[in-house]
Amino acid sequence: MSDEIRVLPKGYSDTPVIPGQVWRVHDVDRPMPPVIAPASDATQALVGEPPSDALVLFDGTSTDGWIHRNGDSCGWTLVDGDAMEVTPRTGDIRSKDEFGTCQLHVEWKAPTEIYADSQGRGNSGVFLLGLYEIQVLDGYENPTYADGVTAAIYGQYPPLVNVCVPPGVWHTYDVVFESPEYHHGKLAKPAAMTVFHNGVLVHHRQEMQGPTQHRALASYADPHGPKGPLVLQDHGDRVQFRNIWIRELEKLQAD
Ligand code: MG
Repeated sequence: MSDEIRVLPKGYSDTPVIPGQVWRVHDVDRPMPPVIAPASDATQALVGEPPSDALVLFDGTSTDGWIHRNGDSCGWTLVDGDAMEVTPRTGDIRSKDEFGTCQLHVEWKAPTEIYADSQGRGNSGVFLLGLYEIQVLDGYENPTYADGVTAAIYGQYPPLVNVCVPPGVWHTYDVVFESPEYHHGKLAKPAAMTVFHNGVLVHHRQEMQGPTQHRALASYADPHGPKGPLVLQDHGDRVQFRNIWIRELEKLQAD
């Protein structure tokens, strides 16, 4: 084997400018993207590793980053060394930090003890900005309303498919959330979500009709800021969560 490699061009400066951009095709001067380490996939036994530039919101060791919506310290329970479990009727919990447009990863599983059907089975939720819910539900062979099934944008859009695994098995949600934008108190750009459930696309940049409502229409009548906490719902069921991480997205396209 040769100990020299062939040195090839690292780009060009005599190519056409890409329409709408300042860069040429294969532009030698275009900045390279930052280098990060990838996430590793979770298995049922092993929690995955976040990518190296993620902010870890829950790694199984502590609930310190979380409080209840009313400000009380987190009353949910650490379990199995890597997860936390809803303590029913302690209330929703929220991250102490606030986020806007982001990529989010959450793993969760529903309890194996089944004492109700429909919305009474493994119900919880993941709320972006504390306002926009992706439904968490044990939707495995469990009839309910379509816009309330697992991974639904609750009350607005069912997922494209139901990718549920049985109760007691870990699920993953991978989400790209875009905060809504207001201009002088009027909606300029609605919130949008892309969601993968267990690796399968279930919402593709779905524009939302407003913050989540129950048995009511959503709207953007009450403007809110571009950031808010991540909220996990206490709906009375002992749902567990693990490996929660987030990447704030200052921009959705490279420069
Ligand atoms: Mg819910």
